[in-house]
Amino acid sequence: MNGTTDQTRHQDRVWSVAEHLDDVLSKIGPLDPIELQLLDAQGCVLVEDITVPVALPPFDNSSMDGYAVRAADVADATESAPAVLTVIGDVAAGSGELPGIGPGQAVRIMTGAPVPPGADAVVPVEWTDGGTGQGPADTMRAHSAAPQDAGGEVRVHRPAAAGAHIRARGSDVTEGEPALRAGTVLGPSQIGLLAAIGRGTVRVHPRPRVVVLSTGSELVQPGEVLGPGQIHDSNSFQLTAAARDAGAIAYRVGAVADDAETLRSTLEDQLIRADILVTSGGVSVGAYDVVKETLAALSAEEGTVEFRRLAMQPGKPQGFGLIGPDRIPLLALPGNPVSSYVSFELFVRPAIRALMGLPEVHRPTTPAKCTEAVASSPKGKRQFLRGSYDAEACTVTPVGGAGSHLIKAMAHANALIIVPEDTTEVPAGAEVDIVLLG
Ligand code: AMP
Ligand code: MG
Repeated sequence: MNGTTDQTRHQDRVWSVAEHLDDVLSKIGPLDPIELQLLDAQGCVLVEDITVPVALPPFDNSSMDGYAVRAADVADATESAPAVLTVIGDVAAGSGELPGIGPGQAVRIMTGAPVPPGADAVVPVEWTDGGTGQGPADTMRAHSAAPQDAGGEVRVHRPAAAGAHIRARGSDVTEGEPALRAGTVLGPSQIGLLAAIGRGTVRVHPRPRVVVLSTGSELVQPGEVLGPGQIHDSNSFQLTAAARDAGAIAYRVGAVADDAETLRSTLEDQLIRADILVTSGGVSVGAYDVVKETLAALSAEEGTVEFRRLAMQPGKPQGFGLIGPDRIPLLALPGNPVSSYVSFELFVRPAIRALMGLPEVHRPTTPAKCTEAVASSPKGKRQFLRGSYDAEACTVTPVGGAGSHLIKAMAHANALIIVPEDTTEVPAGAEVDIVLLG
């Protein structure tokens, strides 16, 4: 067998959706970790175990506005026979210098303020007369760190047990305890914890930079008037939005004309800022299918992009390879808007999420009852129809037809209905698997 026959065979073979996806994912791994500011790391995967450097809370503090007291002094307090304590000062949140409390004494304390030495309980202000000293009678001077004039009194009407309304040092986390493990996806609460323990930056797999470019000499930027034969470029917008939605930092390059030299130089220019490249259009067998013509003919040094036919509808023609000196992954998607979007969801989104090192790269799928019959699904192809999923009823209704130009139907769908390769029709009421688009 000679090389040509081999190659012809290779190109002729039809790939399953799973085979193509496996091939893409087998050539993509998580991006090298970098140190990011906390908020820039949102949605990213942690690559280091984080240990708590100091206990939380770092000191015993009050969980109420009230009075720090000695529990023994209020043990017998009742409504009719309140304990009367001398108020010797104020402690606000942030107070550094703390008055020591002796027998018969109390200190006004605000939520979050350190419990002063000598005190072992906090009596909420509601259990007292609010103080009758020279300070404001029944309102707390919250946020005021200024000491109240000493000599005032507070009547406490209920006993408080030792430790009452005190958040003990280390009751949240203790020093040296693991806070978060490597592999954790950083959501708002994880970022909150990192900030609370004093971490300003963390090491994570960064969000991939995705460069999206569409091809087609018929394409005009939205907002501009169409000439004869022209259409607005919708793919680059949809794909850029989808890339962002997948977690990437997305750069939309406008539409590139069907010209090999322009495409080649645009890709070369974009390589510098790309962790992954996505093109739309120009991958079929037409005379102006410039993406395929250009990328299938790269020199070994420039990279390798393979064009293949997939057993799927929409989205049969697909290109995938690694280009440039850094071997950046490139996915060449078909140009029909529904085809390019479905291809993105099936192949590019998992690739982006694999670059981020996320544990779950796929959209969730779920079974649902199809409310309408699907007739004549192509045999031997996995079909992805647009559907409207009703989570409460667990039903899905096809939206629009199978046409891959039906942009409006796509915009009114929230799921893809999967019709497997060997299924040619789905009766109304039958169960189907659907991909939830979120
Ligand atoms: P192609 O794969 O380049 O042959 O394009 C297939 C179909 O999709 C043609 O009808 C194109 O006009 C249309 N198309 C290609 N690119 C875009 C795009 N960026 N936005 C909207 N439609 C497109
Ligand atoms: Mg085209």
